[in-house]
Amino acid sequence: MALIQCPSCNKRISSLVKTCPHCAQKNSAENESLNKITHIKRSNQLMNQSFFAMTLFIAGVVIWFWGGEPAEGMRANIAAICSVFGFTGYLIARVRIVLHKRKSV
Ligand SMILES: [Zn+2]
Repeated sequence: MALIQCPSCNKRISSLVKTCPHCAQKNSAENESLNKITHIKRSNQLMNQSFFAMTLFIAGVVIWFWGGEPAEGMRANIAAICSVFGFTGYLIARVRIVLHKRKSV
């Protein structure tokens, strides 16, 4: 817990309170840090998502070329599904990361 200055009455208030006890002004420091935390959490989530999609795509490619021969039958289906989902998932995650970053600035 830290003491911060209320932006409206300049009295010292706890950074944990949501509203200033002196003038009932909304504690913007609290909101700001909360927004930042939510934003970072969301960024991490999107990064994980793109990482997972990338792994899926690579797994699909590895399955396809496993043993030095192009896949056939069931293995080809699995490989194709993995790489298609991985690739689309990765693209979607990247776009969402860009949009998310743009929103914050
Ligand atoms: Zn105040």
